[in-house]
Amino acid sequence: MARSKAKHKLLLEHADGRDLTRLAEYERVGGYSSLKKAIKMDRQAVIDELLTADVRGRGGAGFPMGRKASFLPKPEASAKPIYLVANADESEPGTFKDREIMVRIPHMFVEGIVIASHAIGASAAFIYIRGEYLAEFEILRDALEEARRAGLVGGNVLGTGWSLPIVLHRGAGAYICGEETGMLESLEGKRGQPRTKPPFPAISGVYASPTLINNVETLATVPKILELGGAAYAKLGVENSTGTRVFSLSGNVVRGGNYELELGTSLRELIYDIGGGIADGRELKAVIPGGSSMPVLTADQVDTKLDADSMVEAGTMLGSGGVIVLDDRCCMVQLGLRVAQFYQHESCGKCTPCREGTRWMVDLLRKIEAGEATQSELDLLLDVCDRILGNCLCPLGDAAAMPVASYVARFRDEFQRHLDEGGCPFGGESTLDHVMAPVDQHHARRLAEIEVPA
Ligand code: SF4
Repeated sequence: MARSKAKHKLLLEHADGRDLTRLAEYERVGGYSSLKKAIKMDRQAVIDELLTADVRGRGGAGFPMGRKASFLPKPEASAKPIYLVANADESEPGTFKDREIMVRIPHMFVEGIVIASHAIGASAAFIYIRGEYLAEFEILRDALEEARRAGLVGGNVLGTGWSLPIVLHRGAGAYICGEETGMLESLEGKRGQPRTKPPFPAISGVYASPTLINNVETLATVPKILELGGAAYAKLGVENSTGTRVFSLSGNVVRGGNYELELGTSLRELIYDIGGGIADGRELKAVIPGGSSMPVLTADQVDTKLDADSMVEAGTMLGSGGVIVLDDRCCMVQLGLRVAQFYQHESCGKCTPCREGTRWMVDLLRKIEAGEATQSELDLLLDVCDRILGNCLCPLGDAAAMPVASYVARFRDEFQRHLDEGGCPFGGESTLDHVMAPVDQHHARRLAEIEVPA
């Protein structure tokens, strides 16, 4: 469970030693007071607070939440009902913070949904939760029921006459349903494949109605923004990356777990001061900073700050906040193969560069790992990545190509050794299994079921 050395802990401030899944306990620490404040405010005033807070989405893309909300038509000017969809389909390998938020502070998430729904004038909200998150589903279901009985959601919210039914919908285990339009299709009972954009969900989302889509952590942050005020919230963190985020730390590190930190904290502080350093006394080799789809950083970049601009400057992205630590025994070819296998498996098959390209990546990486690839096939791997990047209907194609291209770019010598030595120099000594197992038990299990060369 989460430990934090953040100077300012916002989401998990009261979570230690308290059962905040219970409404009474959550209210004892000020829970739902932000909703009571927001509900008396003009809708635009609530959006203005989000704009002032400059809070970026915590799901992966990092788009500012207030701007996203301001793209929706006003309810009085919309011919269609307006909806909010909470994306709880957390599936990116290396990321498990939304799970902890739903387990430990479900009411903060629910409160954020109701405030954001009020801000956009929603007539219903949906929570799309990852199918494998059964315990989280049950906790959330109970929290919603408690909130409904207390008049905080459902009919006549807080006696205002406004009703907000919240539908809790379980997914069926597809990574692509975390992509916002794939999720909308699935929510409507169709095959979970991304839609072409435009139109964007703000104009035509679920049931072709204007829809605001936000991730669990983003919505759970909303009550704190209302409590502190947007301007005070914006003073936390750094410019362009305000507030705190919950980072999922995993891999070859002593104390993996979820840690809420002020944005702008360094990777070094997270890995060494908070995470206890590299496990088994080994050396740091590389860090994946934002979930498996992000380009890798090398050990000499460990002082990079955990904020959007610093990550871009270092050649990667903050993504979903899943920080995966790799020690000196990790084979980057094996890692690339597993990542490519995962995305090949999860590709919905709708567009050619992703459907065919991920298969080419897997085939080439398998040959390189086995020491059977030619020199030109190593270049071909980069060529395939290049043909995927920016040419797909949704971000999954890039999610496969970006990390693998970065492994080749930053660890080319290691790929070359596989060719020169006719096999993997790490053999069975690679710590990859240690890295992948705690990353996400479900995905690790699925990856293990897919054939990996010895
Ligand atoms: Fe489907 Fe991949 Fe195309 Fe996305 S990029 S629509 S997952 S085939």
